Amino acid sequence: MKAVRFHEHGGAEVLRYEDIPTPTPGEGQVLVRHEAVGVNFKDTYERSGAYKVPLPFTTGGEAGGVVEAVGAGVSGLNPGDRVVYQGTGGAYAEYAAVAASKLVPVPEGLETKLAVAALLQGLTAHYLCTSTFPLQAGQTCLVHAGAGGVGLLLTQMAKMRGATVITTVSTAEKEALSRAAGADHVIRYSEVDFLPEVKRITGGKGLPVVFDSVGKDTFDRSLECLAPRGYLVLFGQSSGRVAPVDPQTLNAKGSLFLTRPTLAHYGTDPEELRWRSGELFDWMRAGQLTVRIGLELPLAQAADAHRALEGRQTAGKVVLVP
Ligand code: NDP
Repeated sequence: MKAVRFHEHGGAEVLRYEDIPTPTPGEGQVLVRHEAVGVNFKDTYERSGAYKVPLPFTTGGEAGGVVEAVGAGVSGLNPGDRVVYQGTGGAYAEYAAVAASKLVPVPEGLETKLAVAALLQGLTAHYLCTSTFPLQAGQTCLVHAGAGGVGLLLTQMAKMRGATVITTVSTAEKEALSRAAGADHVIRYSEVDFLPEVKRITGGKGLPVVFDSVGKDTFDRSLECLAPRGYLVLFGQSSGRVAPVDPQTLNAKGSLFLTRPTLAHYGTDPEELRWRSGELFDWMRAGQLTVRIGLELPLAQAADAHRALEGRQTAGKVVLVP
């Protein structure tokens, strides 16, 4: 089968489209024939070496398609079933053998590609605003990179919970998309400093929570945006890794909370995964949640997908089609 691998860490050019053996499903595994593969920022961290992986590595952690074969000890899944998954390696390929416990059935009425596009970023947005910081009606939050894959979904979910949403974006096109997702205030942080804008919007009070995926470039001012006892939810590092923090800073700036959550700790328990993905797919089918595929490319062009994502050229989800 065809797969996208890298044999050394580096820029997008290290991604190679090559032939590797089609896997056979072992005990507890299912062979999935991919119809769509999700591209996530994590894939670029693994490729660059920011996150360590064994080499050579078939990158990608999110895909979906049709069950082709079922390994020993698997029940409740049959060839022909439509499934999606996230949280493994090996997704940038035509097939993957995946632990059955990671598979989420795609419900009737939902296109497999859209389910793939929604899964990882949707589960992330879900846990961030329901569990890491359970947003309540009337609260105001700041979502950085509001037109990104997670950003557009988090904005919609925060609005569903009755919050006022402030986002940051870099361009006029992204501003329009963020507003269409429901953002009440959109700040072009490429042109103006978002900190005084947040102070102005909140009448100087500051925020109970900031969802920050940008990291290095925004972290310090995100802390400044918080009201006393506010939460900084740092969930990514699209601009680079944040420097170490002195805990005393949290005291001095108002008894603040800092957390660095990951989906791996909010979405692997089977019951939790069923709950989160169930709500996600129900909202999509009911038309309450819109998933935007901003870029779709053939699997062979994975390097172009990485360049676009790292170059801030994408809005919404990036999907590869084998
Ligand atoms: P996005 O679609 O949000 O893409 C990243 C966006 O970040 C860009 O489009 C850009 O938006 C903004 N950005 C700001 N500065 C930079 C920079 N220097 N380089 C690149 N982008 C920049 O990606 P995803 O939705 O896939 O992921 C968003 C973040 O969330 C990532 O950091 C990812 O690692 C993290 N994440 C974390 C998870 C977790 O569980 N902890 C799970 C999923 C994602 P703009 O042009 O508007 O500035």
